[in-house]
Amino acid sequence: MSTPASRAAVLACRSDQVGRCARCQNPCQRYGAGGNPLCQDCLAEVREAQGRKQQTSL
Ligand SMILES: [Zn+2]
Repeated sequence: MSTPASRAAVLACRSDQVGRCARCQNPCQRYGAGGNPLCQDCLAEVREAQGRKQQTSL
């Protein structure tokens, strides 16, 4: 069973703030304070990639 409420319990945030990651489609906190369209894993990857790109462009 995978309901919004059970996802929220796993993510320790409100069920109405849970959504799917724009990149990997895993449930994550998308809305509200601290929410992000990307999950923590994807966010870390994107930030790392952006950091690399900025470094190579210098
Ligand atoms: Zn993700």
